[in-house]
Amino acid sequence: MKILQVLTQYGTRSLDRTFSYLYRGKKEVQPRYRVRINFNGHPAMGFVLSVHETEKTPSELEAENGFAFKAIGEEDIVDEAPLLNDNLMALAQEVASYYFAPLVSVLQAMLPPSLSPRLSSLHGPKIAYEKWVEIVDPSEKGLTAKQLEMLRLVAKNSPILKKEAGSAGILDKLIQAGKVKITLKEKERFHIPESEKEVPHEMTLEQRAAYETILASPKEVVLLQGVTGSGKTEVYLRLSEQVLSQGKNVLMLVPEINLTPAMVEYFSRRFGPKVAILHSQLTPGERYDEYRRIARGKAQIVVGARSAVFAPLANIGLIILDEEHVDSYKQDNAPFYHAREVAIMRGKQESAKVVLGSATPSLESKARAMRGVYGYAEMKHRINEKALPFTQIIDLTDRANFSKESQKLSLPLLQKIKEKLAAHEQIILLINRRGYWTNIMCANCGHIFTCPSCGGNLTYHQEDEMLKCHHCGYVETFPKVCPECGSTRLMRTGYGTERVVKELNDLFPGARVARLDSDVGQISKNVEKTLREFHDGVYDILVGTQMVAKGHDFPNVTLSGVVLADIGLSLPTYRAAERTFELIAQAVGRSGRSSKTGEAIIQTYNPSHYAIVYGARQDYESFFAKEMQERKIAQYPPYTFLILLELSAANEEKCVQAAYDFKKQIEAQSLESLDLVGPLLPYYSMANGKYKRILLLKYKKRELVETYLKNLLDQYAKNSVVDILVNVDPLDY
Ligand code: ADP
Ligand code: ZN
Ligand code: ZN
Repeated sequence: MKILQVLTQYGTRSLDRTFSYLYRGKKEVQPRYRVRINFNGHPAMGFVLSVHETEKTPSELEAENGFAFKAIGEEDIVDEAPLLNDNLMALAQEVASYYFAPLVSVLQAMLPPSLSPRLSSLHGPKIAYEKWVEIVDPSEKGLTAKQLEMLRLVAKNSPILKKEAGSAGILDKLIQAGKVKITLKEKERFHIPESEKEVPHEMTLEQRAAYETILASPKEVVLLQGVTGSGKTEVYLRLSEQVLSQGKNVLMLVPEINLTPAMVEYFSRRFGPKVAILHSQLTPGERYDEYRRIARGKAQIVVGARSAVFAPLANIGLIILDEEHVDSYKQDNAPFYHAREVAIMRGKQESAKVVLGSATPSLESKARAMRGVYGYAEMKHRINEKALPFTQIIDLTDRANFSKESQKLSLPLLQKIKEKLAAHEQIILLINRRGYWTNIMCANCGHIFTCPSCGGNLTYHQEDEMLKCHHCGYVETFPKVCPECGSTRLMRTGYGTERVVKELNDLFPGARVARLDSDVGQISKNVEKTLREFHDGVYDILVGTQMVAKGHDFPNVTLSGVVLADIGLSLPTYRAAERTFELIAQAVGRSGRSSKTGEAIIQTYNPSHYAIVYGARQDYESFFAKEMQERKIAQYPPYTFLILLELSAANEEKCVQAAYDFKKQIEAQSLESLDLVGPLLPYYSMANGKYKRILLLKYKKRELVETYLKNLLDQYAKNSVVDILVNVDPLDY
């Protein structure tokens, strides 16, 4: 008989240990197999960590342990081969320990849906069918706000992929009500645009120098800082070639494949069938196929977004993170891992070189490169030696910059838009906020429309005429009157992408305007379509959130406008200036990429703020120097490390009490170089009907905090009143 040590699918701290199950079947079972188990009377998925033989009988074991082990049968064994190799298993342990995360939650983040240790993985479609939702009856009577939101989405885009419709529960309700129906269609395989094998560029001197510096660097991690348009991709391709020629494999990470299909294309064109692509837009079936192909050693290069850092690629010689500063590399729910940190762990484990590429590196990476912790290579020139765009900063507080025509677009910006339209050149306008009005307040009683479930602001969306919370997804139909006093005098301030599109349509009736934001992007095919059509000249103006600022290459864009540069500055995070700088620098960099000279206009209420001034000039070094001073004064990363603890409880008082208790326990240790901020009321003060408080740990030496915090968290794991979420290296705070 065998005893299996099994993790359950439940990723809570109190269950972060193995449970024993007995097995006497003949069918093989090994560590890292999934097994169906019964846990606390419920069917659940287990993940086997170890297997050992025992000579003892079940009753002997029961006498020894004081309780009877449950047994599983042959039919409960799910897999036929271990899901992870030794290296990936070790990586999972390391990630779990660094992020104070239950091991199973890391495994769930690592494995594709149909291999994940959770019961639902068994229902994942492995066949090549996709489910689509089609509209049957668009009438809206008797629906809840959530149902209405989905119905309007389907009505507008029918048919849409089921997985893009949103909550399955709400969809079921709509199906029952006869509003929509599901149809099965044979799945279109994700295909990389067909293109002939291209001839590699001859590297420029600067590219060659960077390439050689990286190869020669004795450091495991090298920062490649290259201005936009300096040709970093070609360097990645050459490095990959070099590593492949030595019989090693390459992991290429990009922030969002959907927004940067070009990178996938470059790699597929250069390396053909050696490339595998991992990508959240693949269906579970496709992901499974790609995953197995990689695990079987059939691919030498994996290109993918965040979770591809866990790809089952063996024998890795090189890991590249393009745009290493981008926030989407950090998972924003447990285990809150950052692909850059994991890539570095993995690089060490595999003795692989890690290359971090960016035009505007994160402060952490740049600081490490400057201290010699990382190697450093630099490319200062655009390939075509194009000068940077000519940039103007417009002061929005100065009313002389406006005419009656528009309250949002300044005279200089309107003037430039006119010029570019007349010249048949294209324009990108960035407004980093979606929706129509982002602030609605009753002019009569002062009531502000906020989210009842998290406290965030509600934004009016014209597209489906609903009020939405961008933080937690709450929706309601727009009441058009104040719910407190019934007044119809509602002040609508703050505007987003939809409102800017409206403004442009009114002012430039002949212009063809497209919008790109995550509302458009909910239907993923719309993103690629919009980008492609804009590229092909179907539109004159592209309005959007940060999605339009990403590394796109639109040769005919000669004007880049930031409609409101200040949006990010007021966000409650120590990285507000860094994000603002990056966004502006990125937006400016979209203009004038081909032979035509580019221009950029930045509208702001803070025309002398360093993030805006240096962003407009794309002056990374000055920004870095200034921001490092600010971080030093406030003792934020890279001068310290942060851990954010989010406590939540159904009872607010108990939540506050627990937060103070926790704080007291930490302070009692008087750990050296540890600073504790809080308890604070977070910006989003509630979630799922629970009250929240946060504590922020700032520390310099991880080892000191590690053991102590781990013990304390384990102690609190048994506390049933308060939940504690741990976010190591949080990006928002
Ligand atoms: P980055 O990622 O650094 O912003 P890209 O890698 O997108 O820059 O390169 C910018 C442009 O320069 C691309 O159109 C690319 O095809 C072109 N390019 C890159 N390297 C060379 C080269 N050595 N010779 C000619 N063109 C190049
Ligand atoms: Zn009112
Ligand atoms: Zn909300």
